[in-house]
Amino acid sequence: MRPHARSYSLFPFLTKRRRARLRAQPTPAEWAPILTNNVPVYRRVPEELRAQLHAHMHVFLAEKHFEGCDGLEMTEEIRVTIACQACLLLLNRETRYYPGLVTVLVYPSVFYADVEEPDGGIVSEYKEDRSGESWEWGVVILSWEDVVEYASTGRAGYNVVLHEFAHQLDGQDGAMDGTPKLGSRGERDEWARVFNDAYYAFERAAASNRPTLVDAYGAGDPAEFFAVVTESFFERPLALRREHAALYDVLARYYRVDPASWESSNSGETAAPRRRRARRRRSTARPR
Ligand SMILES: [Zn+2]
Repeated sequence: MRPHARSYSLFPFLTKRRRARLRAQPTPAEWAPILTNNVPVYRRVPEELRAQLHAHMHVFLAEKHFEGCDGLEMTEEIRVTIACQACLLLLNRETRYYPGLVTVLVYPSVFYADVEEPDGGIVSEYKEDRSGESWEWGVVILSWEDVVEYASTGRAGYNVVLHEFAHQLDGQDGAMDGTPKLGSRGERDEWARVFNDAYYAFERAAASNRPTLVDAYGAGDPAEFFAVVTESFFERPLALRREHAALYDVLARYYRVDPASWESSNSGETAAPRRRRARRRRSTARPR
């Protein structure tokens, strides 16, 4: 993969100025049909936030390198669809635009990773299919089929782009551990209390095979739990707020948006989620 220098500068004021110029660009007319068709959550984003979202997208698209893998031809549709969802997580805050991220690799569909698993002195090696990966340094990998599948399943609560970019935010404090970089001591204390309570309750529900609103994929690892609750927060905000009000509130403070307020009363969010879990593996590219 190509090194990419544009996200970094020895002179922060130059970066700031360049980003301000990028943000000031008008929204290209061709974005509207792409975003409306491919990103259901975008259709719910209020008008006043859309301008900010588009501005962030200009910076993201200029600074991140996109590369198609396994014969996938990179297109504006793919870049714009992914950039929109990555930038949705950056609204209403000072942002450095995922400073550790250099490249977004996109496969046509699920891709295969070599996995080594130690088991009593023997290491088993096998291939595992994945719809996304988020590396602690430099790379996010996505399956385009899974990115657009979300567009057709709508409110299933599944969103692989939000999932992988939540891992990126989580890793910005040096560890993908389910706790992103937080501001004050009070915020960190509250996060620890609410997030841990929700995580352990979720673990118990998953262990007893009770159905959970949040994707069961999040069980067993707080980092995965943070990624799947991020999906629920944006994709099924009303249900998340109803079932896990305290968790919804800390996420709303962290993400600085209130997606439940974007929903109309007949949003259809109650539609039964359609799950396609069996072949999905998402990874933070660290041993699980
Ligand atoms: Zn994950």
